[in-house]
Amino acid sequence: MLELKAGMKAVVVGLGKSGLAAVRYLHQQGLEVAVSEFRETVPEEERVALEQCGIDSGTGMETGGHTAAFFADADLIVPSPGVPTDLPVLAAARNRGVPVVGELALAAGRIQVPVIAVTGSNGKTTVTSLIGHLLWSSGKKVFVGGNIGTPILEYLLEPGDAEVVVLELSSFQLEAAGDFRPDIGLLLNLSPDHIDRHGSFEEYVAAKMQLFARQGRGDTAIIGTDDVLLAAAPPTAGEKLYSFGTQPGCRARVEGTAVRVEPEFGREGTGALYELAETRLHSRVNLYNAAAAILAVQAFGCNEQEIKAGLADYQPPKHRMTPVGEINGVRFINDSKATNVGAVVAALAGFGMGADKEVVLIAGGRNKGGDFAALVPAFRQYAKHVVLIGESASDLAAVADEAGVGYQFAGDMEEAVARAFAAASPGDTVLLAPACASFDMFRNYEHRGEEFGRCVDSFQGKSQ
Ligand code: ADP
Repeated sequence: MLELKAGMKAVVVGLGKSGLAAVRYLHQQGLEVAVSEFRETVPEEERVALEQCGIDSGTGMETGGHTAAFFADADLIVPSPGVPTDLPVLAAARNRGVPVVGELALAAGRIQVPVIAVTGSNGKTTVTSLIGHLLWSSGKKVFVGGNIGTPILEYLLEPGDAEVVVLELSSFQLEAAGDFRPDIGLLLNLSPDHIDRHGSFEEYVAAKMQLFARQGRGDTAIIGTDDVLLAAAPPTAGEKLYSFGTQPGCRARVEGTAVRVEPEFGREGTGALYELAETRLHSRVNLYNAAAAILAVQAFGCNEQEIKAGLADYQPPKHRMTPVGEINGVRFINDSKATNVGAVVAALAGFGMGADKEVVLIAGGRNKGGDFAALVPAFRQYAKHVVLIGESASDLAAVADEAGVGYQFAGDMEEAVARAFAAASPGDTVLLAPACASFDMFRNYEHRGEEFGRCVDSFQGKSQ
């Protein structure tokens, strides 16, 4: 456990939700906290929160960048997850032997209840919230947070009466995880994402694998073995390793529209079958997510009946394979959160691949440094036509060309919806799954998804 002593001087780098939580937690522990912030000004509510921790915008904070002088007498440096790890001030501090740690490293050893931690390239939010829901509906008191909702240090300020903590963790958080050790760690899948920040896919994978680095006796690792990388190099540190997917030997196996969970090793029986066709988890990606979540909550003593009841009334978060309308037999699905290639490949793979392809895809936006080449086979197999928007439109046009799939460009979402509808036939699906970030055209992925829904509604109004 990282030692925190009253009077130590900590510099928190970058505010936002996690940074503020770190400031408040370190202040509560009696440290003298200062803030180094890249933005020129901080919003009023953040300034007020800092003042409550005794930080005034004069001596306790620098804005508009990070200067060496400000870090000179720091005993501890805590960069927020979004801060680049190669900032010169951080490198210099490491050289001086000053600990540079993330929020997980601070939390390590300080969470008094079992921790379930979820990471992966795609499905983190869904699986984290599903585990939370299944535990809650089985009567357990649970805290759900981390990379979604409440930061872990905010939880530690006032732990409350949760019996279990469920955390979504990003690669950014994991690369500075220190001694953090989850009782149950889930790594759902690995596909290239955030290469702009990590530098290479190998570095990104190494950050994700930090989830298991400190596990040991009594700990459980749960991995998706349809992912070739994970199947080839599973984590070895924990005591129990469970896998999910479609491969033989998986403990939770996706079979059609159901998940079959094998009995514990050495127990009799055929295991339990969880049929999901009538639930909101029926899309293919969510069958995988359900398999992962079932394994995690079983480890907490949830029984089959409780799990089935929870699966039946679970509502997945919006902008993830969310149906938003149907016009003349053409369905519209909003998967705006599909911001990387892996999510789009997985979304397309949930559709039929017969001679009559049934998906018109709307894609494009700001590339996060990923390589679109992996989209070629998925476009070829599943996409009937592609409508392209945003900065990456011409790069994605090259993918469509290579896949032999027709495409058009659209200047905004309204035009994209109209063009996609025109290319679709009754029985087809128009899928918004951009493979890109949204910031070139929208405030965020939620805004992009909402715009899509609005354009579908208004198009429906006009076409009646
Ligand atoms: P994350 O928190 O990892 O971004 P989300 O649950 O928010 O994951 O989903 C992000 C995107 O990934 C959505 O487009 C969703 O449809 C897709 N997705 C969800 N689960 C999976 C999965 N298991 N495999 C591949 N893609 C998935």
